[in-house]
Amino acid sequence: MFNTILKSALLFFKNTMKIFDTHTHDYFVNFDADRSTMLRDDFNAGVKNKVQIGCDINTSKQAIALAKTDEKMFATVGLHPCHVEENFQNLQTTNDLEQCFRYFETELQNNNTKKIIGIGETGFDFYHKDTPEMRKKQKISFEKHINLCKKYSLPIIIHTRGARNETLEFLENNSITKNKEITGVIHCFSENAEFAKIVTEKFNFFISIGGTATYPKSHDIRDAIKNTPIQYIVTETDSPYLAPQSVRGKRNQSKNIKEVVQLIAEIKQIETEHCADILFKNAQDLFNIK
Ligand SMILES: [Zn+2]
Repeated sequence: MFNTILKSALLFFKNTMKIFDTHTHDYFVNFDADRSTMLRDDFNAGVKNKVQIGCDINTSKQAIALAKTDEKMFATVGLHPCHVEENFQNLQTTNDLEQCFRYFETELQNNNTKKIIGIGETGFDFYHKDTPEMRKKQKISFEKHINLCKKYSLPIIIHTRGARNETLEFLENNSITKNKEITGVIHCFSENAEFAKIVTEKFNFFISIGGTATYPKSHDIRDAIKNTPIQYIVTETDSPYLAPQSVRGKRNQSKNIKEVVQLIAEIKQIETEHCADILFKNAQDLFNIK
């Protein structure tokens, strides 16, 4: 009898490992058929907070609307580097880009409920397409996000793909990030330990670890986890993408972060629940919420 109680208590404890998903897109059509069931499933599994990340005007609207349906959820407004082109037709006029940022500002000015807790995702992505003009456009958009962060005292959510040096150079050359006037996060961290050392030490940024860290070939990411002080590490899904190894290829959801926490705990050689608590607190620090 006692054993059974103990076992179920342990199971309950295990199930309620505190999880903070700092980066998710639960408003995507992938969840249209069963969104409320999926959310309940996550919350029952110990997910305490989720941040719905905006990628353009429409998805930022969707992120805010979804965040408003539950006190455990928050949102960001931002223009993903891969969506810069369609919102910024030519370099001679920034009219369409201005329109996008006017919308972001309207939301930020009406943010009485404090649902918007970050700006982004923004950054550089030269993986899918790479032209000098597109690089310029992404840079202008990135700068505008940084300015909003300073104006509204919010952290920046950075996406960087195929742009390692350009991202570091950008952070180095921008007076706001250089002087640590804002904080932020490198989302879906996929660089190496050296990159992690620079962004954490030099810019006081966090690195966000997702399912990719659990993939067999991700030695660099695991090495970065090992060499980065744990106070700079947070967790995410980037759901519906990048499910961890045990459910790889399937639709991702926040409860799967447990596998990532487990990995970080193993690398850091600390107890899993303790590790979960630290990672959770780090995310609260990043977004300045309690
Ligand atoms: Zn994302």
